[in-house]
Amino acid sequence: MKEVDIAIVGAGTAGMTAAIYAKRSGLELALFEEYMPGGQIVNTGEIENYPALGKIGGFDYSMALLKQVEALGVKLIRKSVSKAERKEGGFAVTAGKDEYFAKALIIATGAKNRALGATGEKEFTGRGVSYCATCDGAFYRGKKVAVVGGGNTAAADALELSRMCEKVYLIHRRGEFRAQAADIAKLREKPNVEFVLNSVVDEVGGEDSLSYAVVRNVEDGSVTWLDVDGVFVAVGQTPTTSLFGGLVKLDEGGYVVAGEDCVAADGIFVAGDCRTKKVRQLVTAAADGAVAALAAAEYVAGKG
Ligand code: NAP
Repeated sequence: MKEVDIAIVGAGTAGMTAAIYAKRSGLELALFEEYMPGGQIVNTGEIENYPALGKIGGFDYSMALLKQVEALGVKLIRKSVSKAERKEGGFAVTAGKDEYFAKALIIATGAKNRALGATGEKEFTGRGVSYCATCDGAFYRGKKVAVVGGGNTAAADALELSRMCEKVYLIHRRGEFRAQAADIAKLREKPNVEFVLNSVVDEVGGEDSLSYAVVRNVEDGSVTWLDVDGVFVAVGQTPTTSLFGGLVKLDEGGYVVAGEDCVAADGIFVAGDCRTKKVRQLVTAAADGAVAALAAAEYVAGKG
């Protein structure tokens, strides 16, 4: 069993920032990531709201952050953590076939895309249903697509797709958007964008690939068949926290309950999108990473 001061689960912005602060505090750490380092932001086309960075692609940002982490001597462990248990004096963490013992644990597992729940959604995922406009948008150049959702992701996706698709339907279950007003105003200006409000997608389907979406107006019950080649689902995220249910308190949405001090339980800290918080942005994920790592460093020093 390999012993470290801190185990950080998740190498998104929160986890990698935590790694930078923990390493610079002189701690030995294990940083785990099962997918691509960077987390959800890897799939974001352009970031425009991170201080001092101007415009940067999500992938480039993620790779720059990883480079910064690795330059400090941290080797990313590309394995899925399957178990985390409290033991005397710390935590046993299982990743693949390996076991680690850490004095403190930082949960930075983020969130993953929520499914729509429409009939045919699973069957047509990868054949017309997508959860990432930046990854898959180019396949729909010159075609008709629908974006489902009313938040910032849906608005950003619709804007991105409007630049390459013939037609973009923005389908939202209410009449008001929670997305930033500026993006909604930009979408209203686009001649190829049509808002389909107070509506939900009940079904998607087609032959080999997707060709239609069945949309129901929730106010009058009327049903419309839209001819679309792609449906981009942007209806929010679900936190990836089920592994930690026995160690920390989760709220009804599955988020790890913790305040701005990022303390979730004795020796357990939580950073980024999987924490209960109001603003989930890159900059707040980075801030959490720093706060959690410094709190963990203090905790470890207190133990030593
Ligand atoms: P979100 O803000 O949670 O919005 C999800 C949207 O999907 C809401 O409009 C919601 O409708 C709708 N929705 C949820 N479940 C649905 C269902 N089953 N069927 C139909 N519609 C459903 O999620 P998000 O847009 O992915 O954003 C997540 C976080 O990332 C937010 O904090 C957001 O601000 C942030 N973000 C920021 C940026 C940026 O700053 N540039 C970009 C992207 C995301 P209701 O409105 O009716 O609840």
